[in-house]
Amino acid sequence: MQLFRYSLSILIISFLSFSLLSCDDQPTQVDDGDPADDFSHTTNPGNSNEAFVTDDDFDELVVEVHYMPGYEPEQASLDNLQDFLEQHLEKSSITILTPEEIPSGEQESYSADDIRDLEDEHRSTFTEGSQLASYAIFVDGEFDQSSNVLGIAYYNTSTAYFGETIDNISGGATQPSRTEIESTVFNHEFGHLMGLVDNGTDMQEDHQENGPHCTEEECVMYHQVNTTDFFANLFDDSIPELDDFCVADIEALKE
Ligand SMILES: [Zn+2]
Ligand SMILES: [Zn+2]
Repeated sequence: MQLFRYSLSILIISFLSFSLLSCDDQPTQVDDGDPADDFSHTTNPGNSNEAFVTDDDFDELVVEVHYMPGYEPEQASLDNLQDFLEQHLEKSSITILTPEEIPSGEQESYSADDIRDLEDEHRSTFTEGSQLASYAIFVDGEFDQSSNVLGIAYYNTSTAYFGETIDNISGGATQPSRTEIESTVFNHEFGHLMGLVDNGTDMQEDHQENGPHCTEEECVMYHQVNTTDFFANLFDDSIPELDDFCVADIEALKE
């Protein structure tokens, strides 16, 4: 009888684990230990590095994109972002939602706190089940702290882009295209969400300089890359990628 009970409980346990596994596509039915249940969207950039890079807790990523009138990101920029994320993240699916227009905030410049308030008002896609959610917002002004900043990462899953600043330095005869700028700044800000450089994701070799940025000028995590200075001084008509140092840090997280 003891033996029988023992084998019965093994059977029940195996059945339970099987049904948990097979529920993977409907994870909301699994209540115990669901990493989405206590997921916060309002901590610091870099805190969710593993959630972005690995598939341990979330094997899908969705990116919600909002823009103020006149500042819709180019489809080609979103396609480039998709390629960048697919190249570096261990996800079975990455979806960038069709950008949606939100009303103008009617400000010449926006602080990080202004942008947090806008997210609070408009964001509708959050981490759920096995799907990590990220938020990107294009505002119709400059960054209040510096008119040469093109983008910021302001929460662990959130990035913002300064549409007016991007417009000012793009599209002229000798200026880069809007797609080149948007794609570059996307890569840089999402690099921050991945915990680069040494801001959540450990360095395999020392390559940090100027805050959570990379020492290498050709790397998209170089400190000037999210400013107009980069496009005035260093941009060579190719959208910068992560260099070998940054890729090594990302790859080490996946092991
Ligand atoms: Zn940066
Ligand atoms: Zn780098």
